[in-house]
This record gives sequence, structure tokens and C-alpha cells, in this order.
Amino acid sequence: MIKKLLIANRGEIALRIIRSAQELQIKTVAVYSTEDVDQLHVKFADESICIGPAQSVESYLNVDNIISAALSTNCDAVAPGYGFLSENASFVKNLEEVGLKFVGPSSEIIEMMGDKIAARNLMIKNGVPVVPGSDGKVESEEEAFEIAERIGYPLLIKASGGGGGKGMRRVFRSEDLKREFNAAKSEAIAAFNNGDMYIEKLIVNPKHVEVQILADKFSNIVALGERDCSIQRKNQKMIEESPCVRLNDDKRKELYETAIRAAKACNYENAGTVEFVLDEENKFYFIEMNTRIQVEHPVTEMVTNIDLIKEQLRITSGLRLSIKQEDVKVEGCAIECRINAENPLNNFMPESGEVEFFYGPGGVNTRFDSYLYSGARVSPYYDSMLGKIIVKDKTRLGAIRKMRRALEEIIIDGVSTNQYLLYAILFDIDFIRGNYSTSFIEEKLDELLNLMEAYR
Ligand code: ADP
Ligand code: ADP
Ligand code: MG
Repeated sequence: MIKKLLIANRGEIALRIIRSAQELQIKTVAVYSTEDVDQLHVKFADESICIGPAQSVESYLNVDNIISAALSTNCDAVAPGYGFLSENASFVKNLEEVGLKFVGPSSEIIEMMGDKIAARNLMIKNGVPVVPGSDGKVESEEEAFEIAERIGYPLLIKASGGGGGKGMRRVFRSEDLKREFNAAKSEAIAAFNNGDMYIEKLIVNPKHVEVQILADKFSNIVALGERDCSIQRKNQKMIEESPCVRLNDDKRKELYETAIRAAKACNYENAGTVEFVLDEENKFYFIEMNTRIQVEHPVTEMVTNIDLIKEQLRITSGLRLSIKQEDVKVEGCAIECRINAENPLNNFMPESGEVEFFYGPGGVNTRFDSYLYSGARVSPYYDSMLGKIIVKDKTRLGAIRKMRRALEEIIIDGVSTNQYLLYAILFDIDFIRGNYSTSFIEEKLDELLNLMEAYR
């Protein structure tokens, strides 16, 4: 087993990883920027080490400082969480070179799946359905027009190196293709330093459905249920749930088999997520694989009773999976709401400052993963997500009622949050029926903001 683990992250996910490590009796080392001296991950870890100033590029993205911190504290492994360096193949290569284990797949797997064009080609080769689109990279506007002619509008222009919903543009008419192609390309170069673009058909009103995978070093792979993450704003998830109401048992089985085939295609190892869009006829298409733990992983933990971080740490230590596919049981319904420091009434402007008073939700099957406490600082330098409420109940309606209750309970004074927007969604009739797609927020935003004002 790993003896000492450096957690190369901050916020709620750093705390989440520290908790599981402690239960496995693994010593923990937190890293922090000068901005984060008072954060809970620094207090919870056995040791902590400062890795630089507030700006992420100089601290949480500073490969040399993080590796020095791991070596000087005699760690044998590094856990990246999500965001930051979690999908950075060259970081992982550097760790491999100095003999540090990485809690995730090898640098080759990350590199391959992080190149979305290469991942797409690999899926086609292995019989995993992908969205109709370009054969690889689209070199020019002219080529984009040829592809548009072939597959028809609407289209989605995507960045091969994309992530976090960036570098993506929808195109509905040929008049807009040139402009959107160039805009997406510039955005991709600015965000990912990679202007390789490809084109997919835009699936209209899809559900985003993803499958959680665990794979050990002995080629054992299990699928741990699906998550419906269709409540999104600007391609960023807000609410996730498991199971997905639109799948029957046959479809679900087909989805899991396809996800496992996708993972096998790249000899996957550790925790990963295979993402699909599900169209209005319930046909699903691969969109990407995330080679890391995801924000919404607790939804799966609640319905399967499996600690995914512990499994990651076991896999990294060279142990076998502790579960077989036939032992996986999905029980009840779980929902997660992401609480962000932002003002929905001011175009979702991120908020920062001191949380003057905080009270978290409790109760049966109610979990709150967060870095908040009364007096905590919300920094303008990092992601605005403060934490996640996750609830589970026997039925979906029971889980919705429990989530409403949890949202009523939580108190965050000092910074604006999306708490009441989430609350408004939980009263929407289409949400209650499970009858929603990734267009939900865009279509209903005005109505939801009005409702939210009434609840506040
Ligand atoms: P998840 O499915 O885990 O929610 P996201 O795509 O929302 O995945 O990413 C998780 C976190 O990582 C978010 O905070 C997001 O902003 C960040 N992130 C994801 N991809 C990138 C990227 N390529 N560059 C920078 N940040 C990213
Ligand atoms: P990222 O790396 O930014 O998460 P994804 O490829 O996962 O990029 O796409 C982000 C979101 O965009 C998905 O969750 C889905 O809602 C939407 N999306 C992606 N591809 C398509 C498509 N071909 N048609 C419709 N929606 C799509
Ligand atoms: Mg994605």
C-alpha cells in the first residue's frame, strides 16, 4: 500500500482525498499557495508545504515545486484530484521519471484520451459509437464546409485539447460556419495552446450520460452505474443524478458494455469516466473519456456504497479491485447539487470574500463535501465551486425532497451563491419528471431566476 501521499490540489477534493487516505492509514501531505494558508486541507493533512504564490500557474500548476514537495517529504505517491494537473500527461511523465506513483492512469493513456481526435479514432476502431463527424482534424474553413455539406447542420465545432466546456461552438447555418470555426480555434489556442479542431453533428436536446469505470493493473474492469449530468450551464454541470431515468435495463446494459469496451480499447487503469450523449431516440454516442476522478463521483458512491477514492488508492498500490461486476448493486436514487460562489442574478459573476457564517446540511443520507467553515476565505484565484450536497433516498422523488430540505438548511453568509437557483430547479415540473436535456437551463433560465428571487 502507498505509505505517504501528496495531494496536488486544494478545496473540497483535497479534503475528500485526505479523508480516504487517513482511513487507509496512509500519511498525507497537503500543498498550498500563500493564498491558502488558512484552508482546511492544510489543517487536515499530516504535513503541509507551501508551493508558491496565489496564481495557479505558479503554485497548483507548478510541476517542479510539486515534485520537489513530494520528494522532500518522502511521499511515494501523488493524487491530483480534478482540474489543475489531473489530466496533464507531461506532469505524470515527470512523476514516473522520478519514481513517484500517480493516482490515475499512465501518462500514455492520459495523452491518448486527452487528444480527443485520437480518442475518437480509437473508439471508431473498437466499435464504440461516436457522434457522426469529421475524420480527424479539420485543417481549414474550406474543409469545414465540405464536412458540413456531408453531415448537415446543426454542427458542433470542438477542440481536440478541450476541457471544461471551452473551445466549443454550435453552428446552425452555413453563413456562421467560418466565423464560429475561427472563434472556436482562437479560444482553443488561448485556453489549451492547441488549435486542433474537429467537427461533430450537434445532437439536439441530448442527455449527458456517463459511466463510472474502475480498472486495476490486472485488466479487471467494472462499470459502477451511470450518471445523468444534463443540468448544465455553458457546458458546465450543475446537478447530477444516478440512475438516469431514461434508461431501461437493456439500454443500461448496452451502455455499460460499451463503456467497458471503451476503457479496454486504451488498456485503461484506475478510475475513469466514459461520457456519452443520449439522443431523443435513446441512441448513445461516445463524446470523451475523463482520465481522473470527477466532481460528481459521490453520486456513484451513494448508490453503490463504494468509496471510489479508496479504490483509486488501492489500484495505485497494485492491489486488485475489491469488487466484481456481479457484486455491483445500484440502490436507490442519488442527486448532487454543486454550490458555487456566484451571483446568478448578475450573469453568474463569480464571488469572492469571507464566509462570515456557515452552517452545513445534515441528516440521513445527506452528505456535504465542501471546504467551508465560518470565517473561510473564498479566493478569486480559483474555481468558484464551494462544495457539493449529495443526497440519496429509495425513490427519486424522495431524493428531490431531501435535496430541497438540505438546500433550505444550508447557510452561507458573506458571499452570493447559486443555492436558490438550485432550489428553484428542484421545483420545476420537467425536472421532477426527469424530462430534461442539456438545453434545460438555457430554455428556462428566466423563469428559474424569477422563481429564485421569490424563494430568496
Ligand atoms: P467534471 O465532469 O468532473 O465536472 P469538468 O469538465 O467540469 O469535469 O472539470 C472539472 C474541473 O476541472 C472544473 O473545475 C473545470 O473548470 C476544470 N477543468 C476541466 N478541464 C479543464 C481544462 N482543460 N483546463 C482547465 N480546467 C479544466
Ligand atoms: P469537455 O471536455 O469540455 O467536458 P465534452 O466533449 O465532454 O467536452 O462536451 C461538453 C458538453 O457539451 C457535454 O456534456 C454535452 O452537454 C455537450 N456536447 C458535447 N458534444 C456534443 C454533441 N456532439 N452534441 C450535443 N452536445 C454535445
Ligand atoms: Mg466532458
